Amino acid sequence: MILLANSEAWPGFDKTVELLKNNSHGIDAMIAGISEVEREVKVRSVGYGGWPNMLGKMEFDAGVMDGTTRDVGAVGAVPDTLPVAALAREVMQRLPHVMLTGEGARRFATEIGFSVDDTLYEDSRKVWWKRLQKELSAAELSAFPDIPLAPLSRTITDPERVRDTTVFLAQDSASGIHAVTSTSGWAWKYPGRLGDSPIPGAGFYADSRYGAAACTHTGEMTMRCGTARSIVLAVRFGHTLRAAVDMAIEDLAELKTGFLAGVVIHAIDAAGNHEVASFQCPEDIKYWIWEPGMANPQKRIARKYDPLLTT
Ligand code: ASP
Repeated sequence: MILLANSEAWPGFDKTVELLKNNSHGIDAMIAGISEVEREVKVRSVGYGGWPNMLGKMEFDAGVMDGTTRDVGAVGAVPDTLPVAALAREVMQRLPHVMLTGEGARRFATEIGFSVDDTLYEDSRKVWWKRLQKELSAAELSAFPDIPLAPLSRTITDPERVRDTTVFLAQDSASGIHAVTSTSGWAWKYPGRLGDSPIPGAGFYADSRYGAAACTHTGEMTMRCGTARSIVLAVRFGHTLRAAVDMAIEDLAELKTGFLAGVVIHAIDAAGNHEVASFQCPEDIKYWIWEPGMANPQKRIARKYDPLLTT
């Protein structure tokens, strides 16, 4: 068994550990933990307390992958809904589809009994509006929201606030390796924008035979590189987990166009190894790890790897 998650996981990590110890299915254990993260207002990038889109509306993304069956459920840009990783699991279990977005996802949530929630935290609304007031002219502010938003998408994204998601990866007591993600996405994103967190293969991937990977930070890059899938495939081809993660970062480092910024990769393999590596994140990135034998989960610092500096 193993549980790996990024630093935002703190409100729910212990709960997931307890459930794994009690032989829960890894997905159920991780969704129980992530639901706590989604409820915690102090986590400013996931669930309630996260940041809204440019129009001041919360739109959540989440993904779930069962590495034993390779079943996937994902939701993107879902309004008014928590817990949202739990909704992704329902998509996986109840529908012939892998992903629902926007109003369709909300409709499905209502059909299966999820309440309609007020998901915009007052402080998030205030910070969003203050930011718009700084960025827009008086004429634009009075016409808002009936103004072109695309020009703003270049300027308004706040790099201090875009960061994070919660990602959990586990190998459970049945040796199933699974992945779950949840995020409110980039702060002040263009409405309808999906990041990598609901995109299987990019933001998350799991295969119980080999391992699992999940990414945080700039989803615009990991979607272009198929990062999470590339890591699990490299392990399948016989590379060590560290080499697989490094190759994925080398692919990211090859990108020269588009929006480029930091990425953090979390990965585990079927032999019980784990790797967390950050690319172009100046700050120290922390993560949580638990393995049987550890009395308590440990918070550790990710390895930094930047092929642009070492070659
Ligand atoms: N990867 C997420 C996204 O692109 C955001 C993040 O983890 O910072 O939506």
